[in-house]
Amino acid sequence: MSLNTALLKQQVFVDGAWLDADSGETLDVHNPATGEKIGTIPFCGRPETARAIAAAEAALPAWRALTAEARAGYMHALCDAIMEDIDDLAVLLTTEMGKPVAEAKGEIALGVKYIRFFAEEGKRIYGDTIPSPWADRRILVTKEPVGVVGSITPWNFPNSMIARKLGAALAAGCTMVMKPAEFTPYSALIYGIMAEKANIPAGVVNIVTGDAPAIGEEMCENPVLRKITFTGSTRVGKLLAGNAGRNMKKISMELGGNAPFIVFDDADLDRAVEGAIASKFRNSGQTCVCANRLYVHAGVYDAFAEKLKTAMQAQLKVGNGLEGSTTQGPLINAAAVDKVEDHVKDALAKGGELISGGHRPDGAGTFFEPTLITGATPDMKVAHEETFGPLAALFKFETEEEAIQLANDTEYGLATYFYTQDLGRSFRVMEKLQYGLVGVNEGVITTEVAPFGGFKDSGIGNEGSKYGLDDYLNVKYSCIGGLGL
Ligand code: ADP
Repeated sequence: MSLNTALLKQQVFVDGAWLDADSGETLDVHNPATGEKIGTIPFCGRPETARAIAAAEAALPAWRALTAEARAGYMHALCDAIMEDIDDLAVLLTTEMGKPVAEAKGEIALGVKYIRFFAEEGKRIYGDTIPSPWADRRILVTKEPVGVVGSITPWNFPNSMIARKLGAALAAGCTMVMKPAEFTPYSALIYGIMAEKANIPAGVVNIVTGDAPAIGEEMCENPVLRKITFTGSTRVGKLLAGNAGRNMKKISMELGGNAPFIVFDDADLDRAVEGAIASKFRNSGQTCVCANRLYVHAGVYDAFAEKLKTAMQAQLKVGNGLEGSTTQGPLINAAAVDKVEDHVKDALAKGGELISGGHRPDGAGTFFEPTLITGATPDMKVAHEETFGPLAALFKFETEEEAIQLANDTEYGLATYFYTQDLGRSFRVMEKLQYGLVGVNEGVITTEVAPFGGFKDSGIGNEGSKYGLDDYLNVKYSCIGGLGL
């Protein structure tokens, strides 16, 4: 599988043109599986971002004036262009991000589903009429696009994280300035190529790369930009939310998680193991909804640990994502490997037992073995921090109340999973878990038709579904008086 260099755009996309940074400075981008340099991207800052925002402002009146059907036409054309090149786009994504090429293809296909869903949902941006308390006036509620939107996205889903934001924004009638992660810019810059192919008017979609804090500051402080949508760490999310709040901008924040995965003693253990493999090890453990803490009832603890070990050893294969049999690509960079290693060492120092994996393989690339540790305890780092890597740590519990208390004992509230065959318990536990996403007997639950959003420090707002579209709309109340009725 070789890289199609026609899709490797090394410039930013502003007002329909491909440009370098004003300074001419660039950043290097590397392949995490080999350490090799793939190319460069422009190191832009505030002035380039301001120009992208101005282009989005200029494009806004015509874009929002289109019918929802006309906007949907452009959006479906964008998706058609992406699907035409999906095999090459998957290779590009794997080359810069590392995940297995089949997963990369799945991610891009899911991104397309988001855009197509929103293209159609845009036709259902309904308003309201409200019974009036005045005989001669009528009350009308309509929804309008918030205006120019800025997005900042991470490297772990470099295509679909953009698609969920771009789809909702375009459908609502907003225009966009997007800043992808510096580790995976090319899967974002392809949206410029595809926007051109789909004949989307210049300025509707703009993409800048470079100095993240400077670009973020311009987005937060430029009065033209009306909303910031961010996916990434809670630390950066709070920084952006604070700055956006001072400038009274709308925000959507999809931040970190520390997902508990609970296995009750009445669970179907094989199903729970299957869910744990999918939830914990997808993308080598680098998703914000990855199971981070696995709580297993004492009565099934040893059996679950044994089954999970067997499944991990049989199913998980570490390697370059471009090689067909790989299920576990590299981690994004050396710092990510250091963090997993630190969590493993910390757990072992505090009494954990290493059951499988635990090391960096020899050779190039930023890899780490899928790792299983039993005997995990609340004083370990893995109990409190998101590992964001392939470490499964098994904690033991005795009662349902204890499991719920342990699961909720975190500042995060994004995703949680639990396994039980008891219907009453399903509802009891589902209702008590303080999380925005709950998988009951399921380990992977993301879909474009359902809302995706966190409680507590995991964020504000939703993506996907009708709720995700609402985040890009202002509600307007018009009182129509003087009707002389
Ligand atoms: P991660 O730990 O997943 O890399 P980050 O929150 O650091 O999460 O990064 C997510 C996105 O936020 C990336 O696009 C990154 O460039 C961007 N980013 C990092 N720091 C800042 C900042 N100070 N202001 C704006 N964006 C930032």
